[in-house]
Amino acid sequence: MLLPPAFLPSSEITSLARAMDTEWLRIVVVGHVDHGKSSLIGRLLHESGALPDGRLEEIARGAQDGLPEWALLLDHFSEEREQERTIDSTQAFFATASRVYRIIDAPGHREFLKNMVTGAAQADAAILVVDVEAGVLEQTRRHVAMLAMLGLRCLIVAINKMDRVGGKRGPFDAVSSSVLALLRQADMTPQCVVPISAKHGWELAGHAPEIGWYDGPTLFEALDSLPKPAHLSSQPLRFPVQDVYEINGRKIIVGRIESGRIARGESLMCLPTGQTVRVATIEKFMEDRTSAKALESIGLTIEEPLHVERGMVLCDLKQPPRAAGQFEANVFWLARNGWARGDSLLLRCTTQQSPCQIERVRRRVNSSTFEVVEDDASHLDATEVAEVVLSLDQPIAVEEFGRGKPLRRFVLIKNGELSAGGTVTSAPRLAK
Ligand code: GDP
Repeated sequence: MLLPPAFLPSSEITSLARAMDTEWLRIVVVGHVDHGKSSLIGRLLHESGALPDGRLEEIARGAQDGLPEWALLLDHFSEEREQERTIDSTQAFFATASRVYRIIDAPGHREFLKNMVTGAAQADAAILVVDVEAGVLEQTRRHVAMLAMLGLRCLIVAINKMDRVGGKRGPFDAVSSSVLALLRQADMTPQCVVPISAKHGWELAGHAPEIGWYDGPTLFEALDSLPKPAHLSSQPLRFPVQDVYEINGRKIIVGRIESGRIARGESLMCLPTGQTVRVATIEKFMEDRTSAKALESIGLTIEEPLHVERGMVLCDLKQPPRAAGQFEANVFWLARNGWARGDSLLLRCTTQQSPCQIERVRRRVNSSTFEVVEDDASHLDATEVAEVVLSLDQPIAVEEFGRGKPLRRFVLIKNGELSAGGTVTSAPRLAK
């Protein structure tokens, strides 16, 4: 495969990503501050040959111990991003022999939690970095809670700074078992737990003699063994309607295909009404098309003189999502002012939206300690995760979590402020 150059302006990355659909594996690197996330990202870029010429030398010049400060790489990117010279770490990508990885966001960015929880940044897999000396700390727990809430179960644990303990097995085993216990609490099983040193490049691209006792995969091997992301185009069709324009008496329905494909002459289900419509034409940039696939923005016309409006979703007739006025969900509450029973909320899921209420909070969980704070709660505080039942004024099309399911995530807005992100866990069919 011809690999794209490592660093491109974000617009080009976006069009490349679209052209390649979901060939990328989008990874997020999470973990407590100072445990080595930025260093790991910098080092991964270096080991895979993804750094632009001269960048490494630039960083090494400032190093005291002759070893480059890998984390500085990302600072360089941030500075350049601010000067709009190039891209930031959230747009960095690297390739192994078998596929391309895109690092989609890095904690430490102010908006990280919000981007992750609200779906602005969507990952296929995560690397959880834990400092072998410090062990599991508050953000380690919070990030695990966030991954669990998002249903992101494709995970590699990297126990970092192994050089600080001379590569020894004892400290690794101790931290490794506390991470595994934490993950068990969140009902997660990592693909593997790899002892690494981001600083020295141990167990990233190759095995390190200093960790001779370890016979598992290197981090690159672990990444390459992660399952392929669900191919969006082969999922059932989900086409949320963005707008309907009337041009010369023709009604053009426009939107972005979130998953699946659409073909001229095909019959589709229009939700939440459940009516069947037939695609008459598909248009893109004034050009007639016979078909279109996931991530394309298109216009289409239908044969029936039905009323279609923003917020409706055209779907695969055989595998429609559920149209629900009430469903169970996990939410991560972000807004500082919390939630109290009776608060009016607005739910947004792709282009669909409806006023809603949290009908019931089954469990309120502290995302840092994982403790159930309260069953059947009547309020939520910032950063808490909760299992809730939502009631909507108007039913919308939703699907339960799983990969490549665009209608599983939503955000909640309170008093005009984006206040929580959530995923649908169980949606009963709407009784007709
Ligand atoms: P982040 O906050 O998680 O992104 O952590 P950084 O990547 O900024 O690293 C925090 C500090 O740990 C920096 O001083 C790094 O040089 C250091 N560090 C990161 N990885 C290693 C490692 O493998 N070994 C050692 N000895 N130090 C490391």
